[in-house]
Amino acid sequence: MPELRRGPITDRWVIIAVERAKRPSDLLSQDEKEAPLEPAECPFCPGNEAKTPPELFAIREGGGGANTPGWRVRVVPNKFPALEAYGELGRAGIGFFDRMKGVGAHEVVIESPDHRSELADLPSEHVRLVIEAYIQRMRELMRNHWFRYILLFRNHGAAAGASLSHPHSQIIATPIIPRNVRDRLEAARRYYDDKERCIFCDLLIQELTLGGERIVEESDGYIILAPYDSRFPFELTVFPKYHLHDFTQMNEGQRQGLARALKRALLRLKLLLNDPPFNMVLQTSPNPVPRPGKPGYWATLQYDYHWHIEILPRLTRVAGFEWGTGFYINPVPPEEAAKYLRGVKLPEGI
Ligand SMILES: [Zn+2]
Ligand SMILES: [Zn+2]
Repeated sequence: MPELRRGPITDRWVIIAVERAKRPSDLLSQDEKEAPLEPAECPFCPGNEAKTPPELFAIREGGGGANTPGWRVRVVPNKFPALEAYGELGRAGIGFFDRMKGVGAHEVVIESPDHRSELADLPSEHVRLVIEAYIQRMRELMRNHWFRYILLFRNHGAAAGASLSHPHSQIIATPIIPRNVRDRLEAARRYYDDKERCIFCDLLIQELTLGGERIVEESDGYIILAPYDSRFPFELTVFPKYHLHDFTQMNEGQRQGLARALKRALLRLKLLLNDPPFNMVLQTSPNPVPRPGKPGYWATLQYDYHWHIEILPRLTRVAGFEWGTGFYINPVPPEEAAKYLRGVKLPEGI
């Protein structure tokens, strides 16, 4: 059973995933390896549905039953979950350490039956189906009141942590709000307390009025931006121009717009940087379940928070300095990155 642990000094939760336990020899020079599977052996390719746990959700065309080919997007539980469903948290203290059961969920969204088509390559109509699958699964997981946060992310390339090359995203539900998410939520709430405005809406207005040198593209209701304080070269954030705190509450038109904006952002990176490894992370509002002892804790969430997607190319290594300080050294100013990305010629009509 996975376990969550927290010590009093760093105040960070860590998942100790015993089911994924490895011997020292299994961990040697693990980075840079990506299973070079051919479609015949790939558990995510059509025809190999029996190699994954039974599906949780799928979008199919025409016939074909569950766990058979014919799907366009398929969601399955992770075979080696970092967190699992249990009936209770089992919060406990061990001296001044905190512990709880590794309650959560870990799912894989197989984005397409095609072993080699990335989100950047798929038609935006297909990207919309992937977004649909994200929303359906996140909504389902939000019904579980143990799950405080639902994290959606995507690793592309071995250097970004992808262990299987077939394009897929992952969804992990956690029983706590992760530290990085909490920091953002609290900053947004403090700003709202002070000004009664959304900090993200204000940021977008400011970027647009400052001359737009960090804006890569503005289209379909979205802004693709190289953040002022980018940690990584060519880091991008996709912001909705409309205010919405919760990704899963997008309407039909907003989903279509996102499919196009996301594909275009990823395609610009792919064309400019020769298909770089990257991580993509959705930042959205937490599950607004009532917090015992903290009534009204999320009272202003729908006004103060604003979902967005971060895309973090992994062209530089996080090394000792970054671990020691929390500072990142970024050799490409975001203004330069935005200029290069704006200059990428995208094919007509996408
Ligand atoms: Zn495959
Ligand atoms: Zn906003």
